[in-house]
Amino acid sequence: MELDAALGLIADVPDFPEPGVLFRDLSPLFASGPGFRAVADALAGTLSPEVELLAAVEARGFVLAAAVGYARGLGVVLVRKPGKLPSVAGRVDYALEYGTASLELPEDVVAPGAHVAVVDDVLATGGTVNAACELLEKAGAVVSGVSVVLELAALGGRAVLEGREVHALRTV
Ligand code: AMP
Repeated sequence: MELDAALGLIADVPDFPEPGVLFRDLSPLFASGPGFRAVADALAGTLSPEVELLAAVEARGFVLAAAVGYARGLGVVLVRKPGKLPSVAGRVDYALEYGTASLELPEDVVAPGAHVAVVDDVLATGGTVNAACELLEKAGAVVSGVSVVLELAALGGRAVLEGREVHALRTV
């Protein structure tokens, strides 16, 4: 399937999870074999050659990073919500539109100096991906780019990630 057609499978859902939010639902894309493959291949094509490891944020990032990692022969480090990991290398707390959230990195998985690319589904305000980047850098990794399926330009994520190499398959 062509990448454009694959990205066309993303559904726009108004007023979810709350009034005024236009939710981009990747479920139909994930459920399409040809669509999923087209997107995974396109994400794999955004990685710079020095990337040694992928990092993904729970939960939709996991699905994408697993496919991209398989395609490129790269492993995946799972950046998790608190309370899931038995042994934690670091934790970052970050602000959401309402309230705060935290992410944790598993211990002894990211080698100091490792070149890591972050993979996620949607770049909105950038808070989540930025937190993942900070967590990786605190562990001594070098963040070698951020690759997402969809960038919501109006929410300003690219500015939050200023100085980082951001690849989006589609920007709306
Ligand atoms: P961010 O505001 O960039 O920290 O977004 C955090 C996460 O929320 C992203 O990884 C997306 O999975 C999800 N997200 C935020 N806004 C949307 C949206 N409009 N549609 C779908 N997912 C979203």
